[in-house]
Amino acid sequence: MQQLSELSNLMSQHINWVGTALFVGFGSWQVISKKRKSAHAQKSLKKSSPQSQGTAQSAPLVEPIGLHPEFDRGLCISCGTCTAACPEGKVIQMIQGRPELVSPGKCVGHGECERVCPQDAISLVFGTRKRGKNIPRITANYESNVPGLYIAGELGGMGLIRNAIKQGTLAAQHALGEIEKTQTPKTQKTDVDLVIVGAGPAGLAAALSAIEKKKSYLCIEQGSFGGTVYNYPRQKIVMTLPAQLPVIGIMKFRGHQVSKEELLEFWQNTKTKTGLVIQEQTRFEKLVSDTGIFRVTANGKEITAKKVILAMGVRGTPRKLGIPNEDLAKVAYQLIDADQYQDQDIAIVGAGNSALEAAQSLAEAKLRNRVTLLVRGDALDRANEKNIEKVSALVKQGRITILYRTSVSGLTADTLLVKNGEGVIQTLPNHFLLVLAGTEMPDKLLTSLGIQIDTKFGETLGKGSTNA
Ligand SMILES: Cc1cc2nc3c(=O)[nH]c(=O)nc-3n(C[C@H](O)[C@H](O)[C@H](O)COP(=O)(O)OP(=O)(O)OC[C@H]3O[C@@H](n4cnc5c(N)ncnc54)[C@H](O)[C@@H]3O)c2cc1C
Ligand code: SF4
Repeated sequence: MQQLSELSNLMSQHINWVGTALFVGFGSWQVISKKRKSAHAQKSLKKSSPQSQGTAQSAPLVEPIGLHPEFDRGLCISCGTCTAACPEGKVIQMIQGRPELVSPGKCVGHGECERVCPQDAISLVFGTRKRGKNIPRITANYESNVPGLYIAGELGGMGLIRNAIKQGTLAAQHALGEIEKTQTPKTQKTDVDLVIVGAGPAGLAAALSAIEKKKSYLCIEQGSFGGTVYNYPRQKIVMTLPAQLPVIGIMKFRGHQVSKEELLEFWQNTKTKTGLVIQEQTRFEKLVSDTGIFRVTANGKEITAKKVILAMGVRGTPRKLGIPNEDLAKVAYQLIDADQYQDQDIAIVGAGNSALEAAQSLAEAKLRNRVTLLVRGDALDRANEKNIEKVSALVKQGRITILYRTSVSGLTADTLLVKNGEGVIQTLPNHFLLVLAGTEMPDKLLTSLGIQIDTKFGETLGKGSTNA
């Protein structure tokens, strides 16, 4: 009996030791794994730090340029929820127990981190204290400083289809609500209640709002219905979280992904179902505010409206290289159909998603192109992880060459002069040059309409601005 009890004591001691060992082991593994993650995050942070960014085309990228999260250290409880929320991948990571923006260039302003933070410790801001970003002045209802003139979508500084849909809807709801509020028998008659300039996602949502509210509208588009989406490369995979479309309801796709063609088809069906009218190939030229109404000129004709929404996006003003010969026909600022390029030497300037997606399409084996990606910095830190992985795989297969820390210093009909970080110039054979280095805010146009432009130095957008 005594022997049995000794055996049982021995066993229970053994179980305790094993338990303790497991507990200690698990604890140390967790600490090591956390340290590893933190070290990896620190590495990414270093990569995006000022010292490590190569200079090439113009000023080096030393700070987050667009919309990005800022953390209130007083409120943050270091729960790490924000690190997993970002659809773009590892943009925020924990470093020594604190969330840090390790890949600012990848942030496109989804605002998911802001939405999930249980402490309300995240704000989305434009620019930084040192580096400003020009943004048109708009209220929380998307009205500019010119009463009755609204700005929605990417023209207001924030990209993404879902944001454009939300802003187009809110701007139109406010504009149309104001018309109802101020309507009297003496109110001046106009051709339509609302003119919408641009038929991308923001313009589409604004026009649907007018249909929902049974108000008259004119939606003009200088190109084709769909806006920037219409001009995406063929078969591009569009990533978009669910968005609420007026009249139609929720717009969502499996895995939050859809091809360009399917998305355009969805919008075409929306057009048919709702009777939406878009006046394509009609270019907005100017507007004058005249005793409470607007006189809008498009394709040389004038139309009057009570309110106007500018949903023109920013693609009309692509960022240029500013070098001689840039007007050669071989230079383009967007890629629509990769199949048009076969057995060609093609260089792409840029390191963002557009540049990486173009490189992938052009590097398809069947096209036999020789694709070179010219990157200003020393890493691909401005695109999402999926695109970086795909391009890295194509580099390994020898289908894409990446030249880091480089800028274009000159071009002729069949060559490209590329300068590296040390100032050494290399001549590359070149048939086509795609410049996919982002866009500029059309400040000149906006100021000519009387809209105030502010330079934001890390100022907040207001809570929930991006969350549909
Ligand atoms: C290559 C690429 C890939 C992208 N991928 C994604 C993605 O996967 N997911 C995502 O959410 N976002 C993506 N984006 C961003 C997204 O497309 C934009 O943020 C969005 O289209 C902005 O919508 P918008 O309605 O504000 O403007 P736009 O879609 O740019 O539409 C504005 C429209 O206004 C018209 N216009 C401009 N000036 C005039 C004028 N004077 N008169 C009449 N019409 C005018 C233009 O022709 C254009 O059709 C991508 C962008 C690019 C370039
Ligand atoms: S989710 Fe909010 S509280 Fe949690 S780590 Fe991120 S910023 Fe801090």
